[in-house]
Parts: sequence; C-alpha cells; structure tokens
Amino acid sequence: MAAVTLTNVVKRFGVFEVVHGADIDIADGEFVVFVGPSGCGKSTLLRMIAGLEDISGGKIAIGGKLVNDIEPADRGIAMVFQSYALYPHMTVEQNLSFGLRMNGNPKADTERRVKRAAEILRIDELMQRRPKQLSGGQRQRVAIGRAIVREPQVFLFDEPLSNLDAELRVQMRVEISRLHKELGVTMIYVTHDQTEAMTLADRIVVLKAGNVEQIGAPLDLYDDPANRFVAGFIGSPK
Ligand code: ADP
Ligand code: MG
Repeated sequence: MAAVTLTNVVKRFGVFEVVHGADIDIADGEFVVFVGPSGCGKSTLLRMIAGLEDISGGKIAIGGKLVNDIEPADRGIAMVFQSYALYPHMTVEQNLSFGLRMNGNPKADTERRVKRAAEILRIDELMQRRPKQLSGGQRQRVAIGRAIVREPQVFLFDEPLSNLDAELRVQMRVEISRLHKELGVTMIYVTHDQTEAMTLADRIVVLKAGNVEQIGAPLDLYDDPANRFVAGFIGSPK
C-alpha cells in the first residue's frame, strides 16, 4: 500500500513560510499532478514527501507510516528530476545498475531489474551506449529507468520534461501515462505546465504561493474552478 497523506503540512525556510498547511490525500495507485506557477512550493512539497527536506509542521505519511519514521532505503520512493544527471563515463546499462550494485543488490536480481526497465522503456538497443551518444528523450528514458529499477511504490517527478522540446514532451507524456498503467504505482508529478497536468492527472492539486487552492479531477477543475486563480490557470472561461 502506498497511499500518501499530507496533513496540515507547513514548511519554513528561516523566517519565511513557503507552505502554509497543505492537506492532500493521494490514493494508492493514483496519478496526482501538483501544478502552479514557479515558486509556489511544488518542489518543496515533493522533497518533503521524499524525506529529503525537514517538515516544519504537520505530518506526511506513506502507506500509513510517517515518512521520517521510515529508513530512507525502505520508503519505497524514487524521484525523477528535470536535470537527469547520468554518469557520462558509464554505459546505459551501467547507469541503470549502478545504484543497485552500490546497495549490494544480488547480481542476478540486478540484471533482471535492468532488463525489465529496458523493456518497459524500450531502450534495449541502447544499453551499451554512453549518455553523449543519446538524444534528450533517450537520456530522459534512462533517468526514468534508474527510478524503475528500484521498484518503488511511489514515483515522484519534478518537472521531468522541462528540458525537452515540445514534440518530445508530448511523446514522453504518453510514455509516462503508459508507465503508470503498466506499473500500477502511485505517481506524484510536479509541473508548471497546465496541459501536462490536464493530460496526465487522475487529480490535480492547484497551488498558489504555498496554498492549496483546489484539488480535483481535471474536468472538475475546468468546469467548476474554486476561484479566479484556478479558472485562469486551468483555462476554463469562468
Ligand atoms: P516551485 O518548485 O513551485 O517553483 P519551490 O518549492 O522550489 O517552488 O520554492 C518555494 C519557495 O521556497 C520559493 O519562494 C523559494 O524561493 C523558496 N525556497 C525553496 N528552497 C529554498 C531554500 N533551500 N532556502 C530558502 N528558500 C527556499
Ligand atoms: Mg520546482
């Protein structure tokens, strides 16, 4: 079970409060997109869910357990960033297996996981190449592959497609949707791109300056926005 629950979550950096008491319930297997303008707190929320950032107030639970009570390795979380830092001197295969090998994962199991990730992402042909011999989209696939091999319960994506050109973004959106269906895991996806949110999400969380403005299915937000900000951001005529 990998439901993710945020209860009255607050984040302060020094005297500045940047998340003002967020309540967000994400069901096991759901695809939820956090959307909002730059600086509204999307990455900070994601980093707190991943346990990479202290929580100043409130609670975050994954599968019913508080994030900070779970050992990092046992959290069942993998994160994909915008800047996919692949190891330039390693092949694709080595990039995929490196983390597992460092954790002492058995060789046969590592090979199985790498093979499966390569099949899911259709990068079987690229396994012996190095990052500089790959296109932007292929590199992003490898970065997602590094998350898949960890076999997480929860995937966190922080603007993973921002560096790609428009055509590739559309293609990768389809890939990520397919991945969600195939893996059946919980995905939390951060973007400032409304179209990306509308096409990917089971539910969207609209954020503005550290506040949750509205949570709902894409069409519900479109048809019945809570306020003018949501209306303006999601693009309905209200
Ligand atoms: P988003 O991802 O939505 O663009 P962030 O979560 O990165 O927004 O940032 C939210 C707010 O918190 C911004 O005002 C940002 O300047 C501030 N912030 C983020 N990280 C830090 C930090 N390490 N120290 C101080 N302020 C930060
Ligand atoms: Mg961000």
